[in-house]
Amino acid sequence: MKRLCSALIVTGMLLFAGLQFVGSALADDASKRPRNVVLILIDDMGYGDVAAHGNPVLKTPSFDRLHRTSAHFTNFAVSPSCAPTRAALLTGRHEFKSSVTHTILPMRNMDLNATTIAQLFQQKGFATGLFGKWHLGQAGKRGPWFRGFDETLTVAKDSQGGHFDPTLLKNRVKTKFKGYRTDILFNEAMAFMERNREKPFFCYLPTYTPHAPLKVAPNYSKPYEGREGVNAKFSGMVANVDENIGRLLDRLAKLKLESDTLVIVISDNGGTFGVDTWNAGMRGTKGSVWRGGTRAVSFWRWGDRFPAGPRPQMTGHVDVFATLADLFRLDVSKPLAQQLDGDSLQPLLEDAQAVMDEDRMQVHHRGRWNKPANWQRHKYTYCCVRWKNFQLVRIETCDHANCTTCKKIRQRTIGRNGAVRTYYSRNIKHARMTKRGEWELYDFTNDPFQEHNLADEKPEIVKKMTSHYEGWWKDVSPVLADPAN
Ligand SMILES: [Zn+2]
Repeated sequence: MKRLCSALIVTGMLLFAGLQFVGSALADDASKRPRNVVLILIDDMGYGDVAAHGNPVLKTPSFDRLHRTSAHFTNFAVSPSCAPTRAALLTGRHEFKSSVTHTILPMRNMDLNATTIAQLFQQKGFATGLFGKWHLGQAGKRGPWFRGFDETLTVAKDSQGGHFDPTLLKNRVKTKFKGYRTDILFNEAMAFMERNREKPFFCYLPTYTPHAPLKVAPNYSKPYEGREGVNAKFSGMVANVDENIGRLLDRLAKLKLESDTLVIVISDNGGTFGVDTWNAGMRGTKGSVWRGGTRAVSFWRWGDRFPAGPRPQMTGHVDVFATLADLFRLDVSKPLAQQLDGDSLQPLLEDAQAVMDEDRMQVHHRGRWNKPANWQRHKYTYCCVRWKNFQLVRIETCDHANCTTCKKIRQRTIGRNGAVRTYYSRNIKHARMTKRGEWELYDFTNDPFQEHNLADEKPEIVKKMTSHYEGWWKDVSPVLADPAN
């Protein structure tokens, strides 16, 4: 396993060699690989919004069922917000390399030269379907129908839209639906699986909930009403997603596809309206790089083939591409392999004790400068480096008087007109900034709320991680200076 691990490490050349090695190790025995994959991305749900993760209020029987039966990554991070996570998830490289730095246009338009995992599945002969939120641009050639998906069901103009009785683009044709959008997406995705049950499929199901607008049928929110610090509507939306995941798992079993299908459930950023109920003790919300803003749900189940249980090793959304390429023997060209930032997690899926590369680090940056030209002065506005159980953090606003981005960050940190409240939480500490000009270092296994700065105690680690950040910034700078969007 170690050999496999080390073969998969880091750079493109090695990664490419690693993929070849895995191929020969499995001797192309199809029974040793899953045939299909369902990738579910939950919009605006945090790590803490799951009963099995310690949430004392929410009832999440389906997530708990996944927790019991799947390999789950407990130190799995995504980008601080929506579109950036989608870009990194689908391309296997940091979102900035695909020119995605924000959730609004034009900064969420993903570079047309980026290769999506859906394209690789399509080239391999899989039926591919997207049912839900694309959010990486839709104008010109940017729609998901040009980026690897045979079938699509999404919102026109790539917007968020409403949750009830939606008009959706079904294979690019405006189609009216009745009911709750999340239910509709799951229904259509399950019909797709059933239609394609005889051939391999890749089903990507990114929900629009529990993202705002916070609306759901009262039977879901009612059990949570009147409870101190609990957002009943948000909680009800989580309950609805949970119910739909349960329906999907049951349908896979009924179709006898359970042992052939890899089911992955990931959330797209840290906690939002649920953090005051329970954020697993972490500082930060969506939009921040504190651990509570980037740690995500990550369940992987392939029948009973992967040993159930936690995988505490450092992992993240950029690893999904390489993992799927590895598991499904997708054809990754040498130039594409060289662009990847993630590693295959197959060793960890098969063996909870497997060791990943000791030196791997991952960088997160909030981005969200108000227009592409303003990238340079936001080098240290909300960024972090992860390495093992350490997180190096720097959060400082630019000095520009007219920067709306930084003005908003400051307001949420110090409060406005005496009101101390971040957007998602009443706890102002979630939006704390770091001391100007300095990095802070945290060991989140011993200090989940990130209160004890270890920078002075561990200068060597700070130096090592800072140097990684500087190298990363240099690496992404040419794209930021001349974005494809
Ligand atoms: Zn600024």
